[in-house]
Amino acid sequence: MLHICHLYPDLLNLYGDRGNVLAYAARCRWRGIPVTVHRVRRGEEVDFRGMDFLFLGGGSDREQNLMTEDLRKRAGALREAIEDGLTVLAICGGYQLLGHYYRTREGQVIPGLGLLDFYTEAGARRLIGNIAVEIELDGERVKVTGFENHAGRTYLGKAAPLGRVLAGSGNNGEDGREGARYKNVFCSYLHGPLLPKNPALTDYLIRTALKRRGLPELLEPLDDRLEATANQAMLRRLRVI
Ligand code: GLN
Repeated sequence: MLHICHLYPDLLNLYGDRGNVLAYAARCRWRGIPVTVHRVRRGEEVDFRGMDFLFLGGGSDREQNLMTEDLRKRAGALREAIEDGLTVLAICGGYQLLGHYYRTREGQVIPGLGLLDFYTEAGARRLIGNIAVEIELDGERVKVTGFENHAGRTYLGKAAPLGRVLAGSGNNGEDGREGARYKNVFCSYLHGPLLPKNPALTDYLIRTALKRRGLPELLEPLDDRLEATANQAMLRRLRVI
């Protein structure tokens, strides 16, 4: 049994981000791996140590403001779980809050948890559009596609990038980096949602969680022809292939 935690499903769920939880759960169930999804709202209890996959979606500046105080109360427990190897996927607004801070266009500073070494500052122009990123999974290069829409420009300190931008803006539109990665924490600006569109990444995140529990990591292959065709079509449209 794998336990999936969707934090703030009512607030952080931009552009269908919930699809990441659905895809993760479905690809487990299709292999006969039972899953339970825990939807945790502000003020609700959760023991991160008992979780296998934590998902934080994107949200507007307003929504980020609404949940940041609650999230701060969970910082210590989350840090412990991350150091213990918890698999985390954080998208856009959720991504930004795992770093040091997010400064809005109006100059308001929303403090983050500082769990990963990066900061984000809003720029004048929003970075919007389809995006392709090359990421490395188990030594293999995978081209993932998604959709980005953010004002924030993220600058990495010691945190490693998740991948290399092939087309689109990524973290800040300048340094060719996209997302952040630390231990089993994966951060990205890619909505889409990311996991339904990119099954290789979804399976990687499932294997990561299974490995941590000492369970067999071998996953039966699934029929991903539809996803692969959509991925190729987008890569062609973005002139990546
Ligand atoms: N408010 C953040 C930004 O615009 C996050 C937006 C999002 O999650 N799509 O940068």
